[in-house]
Amino acid sequence: MSPRRVVVFGGTFDPIHNGHIAIAKCLRDELEAESVVMVPTRRPWLRSEAPIASPEDRLRMVELAVENECRIEVSNVDILRDKTTYSIDTVNDLREHYAAANQFTFAIGTDTVPDLHRWHRFDELVKECTFTVVQRPGSPLVDTASLPDATQVVRGPMIKVSASEIRSMIRHGDLANAANVLPESVIRFIIEASLYQ
Ligand code: ATP
Repeated sequence: MSPRRVVVFGGTFDPIHNGHIAIAKCLRDELEAESVVMVPTRRPWLRSEAPIASPEDRLRMVELAVENECRIEVSNVDILRDKTTYSIDTVNDLREHYAAANQFTFAIGTDTVPDLHRWHRFDELVKECTFTVVQRPGSPLVDTASLPDATQVVRGPMIKVSASEIRSMIRHGDLANAANVLPESVIRFIIEASLYQ
């Protein structure tokens, strides 16, 4: 049976930036994925700070950012679940939407790896999906021996950008630099909705 692979790419996307989009495209092409599914989280449980923009605004920004990309989709499963986001729930919910898929892999940046073993019901999660680690500039390379079996490490586009830097640029009125690392539709939405000011 040929693999019908779905890549799950979760994040706060507060806001989604060009680094996220380049990663999604790279995973779609390198892993020959049937679909990369961007899943904005409602309330990520391992993050001490709550996202700044509302779940609905973050979802809308992700939709705007990928609306013209083929095989990159957006799911609201985590936003609809009115509680803390656990990846095991995400994967289980997505299985209902992508019933024909026979491989699920969860994409994470290298900065997320140290916390991976603390993920809720992790033993169960590793039975449901594999992991694909995308290298992030500035984060140490990962020791694959510490990762679950079948984890793949992808070099990725190595774009040095983070959502927190972008929020800081906008807060300081530096819209020109923020616009360099955001899709045009997203910076337009941020300005119209007065986000991050
Ligand atoms: P923040 O600066 O607020 O922490 P972020 O830019 O890391 O935000 P998230 O939405 O938290 O964005 O990231 C979602 C996922 O994308 C995480 O697994 C993160 O490691 C990964 N990621 C984000 N930016 C990059 C990047 N430039 N290169 C590689 N991975 C990234």
